[in-house]
Amino acid sequence: MRQSKLFTKTIKEAPKDEISFNAQTLIRAGFIDKVGAGIYTFLPLGLRAHNKICDIVREEMDAVGGQEILMPALTPKEFWQITDRWESFDALFRLIGIDKKEYALGATHEEIISPLIKKYLFSYKELPMYVYQIQTKFRNELRAKAGLLRGREFSMKDLYSFHVNQEDLDKYYKIIQEAYFEILKRCGLADLTYLTFAAGGAFSKYSHEFQTLAERGEDTIYICDDCRVAVNQELIEEQKTCPECNKTDFRKEKAIEVGNIFKLGTRFSKPFDLRFTDESGKKQDVIMGCYGLGPSRVMGAIVEAHHDDKGIIWPEAVAPYQVHLLALGQDNKTKETAEKIYKDLLAKNVEAIYDDRDEKSAGEKFADADLIGIPVRLVISEKTIDKDSAEIKRRDSNKVELVKLEGLVSKFK
Ligand code: ATP
Ligand code: MG
Repeated sequence: MRQSKLFTKTIKEAPKDEISFNAQTLIRAGFIDKVGAGIYTFLPLGLRAHNKICDIVREEMDAVGGQEILMPALTPKEFWQITDRWESFDALFRLIGIDKKEYALGATHEEIISPLIKKYLFSYKELPMYVYQIQTKFRNELRAKAGLLRGREFSMKDLYSFHVNQEDLDKYYKIIQEAYFEILKRCGLADLTYLTFAAGGAFSKYSHEFQTLAERGEDTIYICDDCRVAVNQELIEEQKTCPECNKTDFRKEKAIEVGNIFKLGTRFSKPFDLRFTDESGKKQDVIMGCYGLGPSRVMGAIVEAHHDDKGIIWPEAVAPYQVHLLALGQDNKTKETAEKIYKDLLAKNVEAIYDDRDEKSAGEKFADADLIGIPVRLVISEKTIDKDSAEIKRRDSNKVELVKLEGLVSKFK
């Protein structure tokens, strides 16, 4: 991508009505644009980062047997009435169609997936089943002030699992915990994330959250460092000891809930009459689990966790580009050399963004590169060309190195 052609620009100051750090930074760097409270447009750079997170999530869900579908965002009222959630789901966006019928914008999809699976599930032989989607969700959040951490429109991966019994659900629930840590590892968040015990509901004592440490996180968790797990503040009154080792010396921290998994039991299969025929020919309720994770919230969490005072520091796997090539100076030699390197990078399928803008000073280009946060910065100038070299610097390090132009591009990938 040539920066001279990128229709977005970095901006000096984020809009005054944006108070969250992740959104301010992403807006300034040209990743997102604010449309309203909790409503954002994903711009070219932001969409690339978001898509990378989604691709990681998709790979890890496919790896644990998930089959991807896409359910509608527009969901008829009667589905929600079956589970008594039309009234009780506070954050539901409700609307009326031209047919005078009422609808909700999907906030979660148990009400849609359960009757869907009922159409295809008959025998125990078809179980377990794992079905997921990555989709835009809508929630009428009261305090949409945390940027991508709390959108009123946001992306969610929601996986639903269907089992013959509790034991099978328990097994898969563990597998998902591992898959989530794999996702978070690839997103650069695993070391900061704690499996956190939270309130469970009617069918299990606990649900589990994946809480990523961040000063500006909205949640408070109590960490047991020995077990590397935590308890959510909302549960701490009832759960005063570590659920794993029973110790009471917790470390209290602020965190962001990037994922949340639940054992649903028959909470949704009962109202939708979702049953299967067991080996002896008897009808049984399906046992369900649901597993949420928010790619857009993860993107916000990455910015909260990985930045310095100059801007974002993207982990490689989620960075919109791998290399930021800067041409400093208007002389022909610099331009020609940078153009050639850019073309060579593209030919090698290295994802590169090339600052070829004539009107920008070296200082402005450096500042923009730091703000945008691409993992590797490659600088070409008269000075480096004199030494047949380019200057290379990683965003997460202060070390600047000269590398020979010859063979430079083959160092990537
Ligand atoms: P919270 O407690 O933060 O309101 P939740 O427990 O209601 O979230 P779930 O319904 O479990 O969230 O949703 C699954 C995942 O979807 C969350 O772990 C989070 O990553 C994401 N998510 C939920 N609400 C939002 C939101 N308003 N903005 C962005 N991501 C969200
Ligand atoms: Mg939650």
